[in-house]
Amino acid sequence: MKTSFILSVATAIRDTILNNESTLESLDRAIGDGDHYINMKRGAGAIVDMQAELESLSPDAALNKIGLKLLSTIGGASGPLLASFFMGMAKALKDSGDESVPTYAAAFAAGVDLIRQRGKADIGEKTMLDVLIPVANQFKALAAANANVKEICTALIDTAEQGMLATKDLIATKGRAAGLGERAIGHIDPGAKSCQLMITAVCQQRLHSKN
Ligand code: ADP
Ligand code: MG
Repeated sequence: MKTSFILSVATAIRDTILNNESTLESLDRAIGDGDHYINMKRGAGAIVDMQAELESLSPDAALNKIGLKLLSTIGGASGPLLASFFMGMAKALKDSGDESVPTYAAAFAAGVDLIRQRGKADIGEKTMLDVLIPVANQFKALAAANANVKEICTALIDTAEQGMLATKDLIATKGRAAGLGERAIGHIDPGAKSCQLMITAVCQQRLHSKN
C-alpha cells in the first residue's frame, strides 16, 4: 500500500459520505441525536484537506496522523473510536514492517480491536462493530487462504452490507441508542452504515487502482 492510495481513498470516503447525507442523517435522527452525518463530513473533509502534509509520509505515519486528526475534529462517540482504528492500524503496520496482504488484514483487525477495547463493545450490540468485526475476520481468513484482490474486495463489500443490514433487528446495548430498548428495532445503526459505506469505497478504489 502506498500513501498515494491512502490519499485517493480519503477522497473516495469523503465523497461517499457526502452522497449519503440524507441516509446518515435520518438514521442518527431515528436512534441517536442526528449529528452522525455532520461528524463524518467534518472528519472526512479534514483528512482530504491534509493531502499536502500526508503525501511525503510513510503509510503508517500517514494513518497515525489521520487518527490524531480525527480525534481532534470529530466529536461524539464515533470520533475517538474511528481515531483508535487508524492509530491501531498504523501501529500494527509499523511493527510488522512488511507489505503482504496478511499484514494489511492483521493491521485492519488490530484497528478494529482497538475500537472494541476503547468502546468496551462487541459484535451484536448494534454499533459500527457489527460491520467491522465480520469484515476483519473475513479479511484475515481470505488473506490466509491466498485469495486475490478481486475476491477479497468483492467478499468484503458483501460482508459489510450484511453486517450493516443485520443491525436493523438488534437492540442497542452501547451508545445513545442503548436507552431506546426495543424502540431501536427496525432502524439500521448509523455508525454501521457509515462504516459499510467507507469499506465499500475503499474496496472499490482498490479494485480500480492499478497498483
Ligand atoms: P454520538 O453517538 O456521540 O452522537 P455519532 O452519532 O457520531 O456520535 O456516532 C454514533 C455511532 O457510534 C453509533 O451509531 C455507533 O455505531 C457508534 N458507537 C457508539 N458507541 C459505541 C461503542 N461503545 N462501541 C462502538 N461503536 C459505538
Ligand atoms: Mg450522534
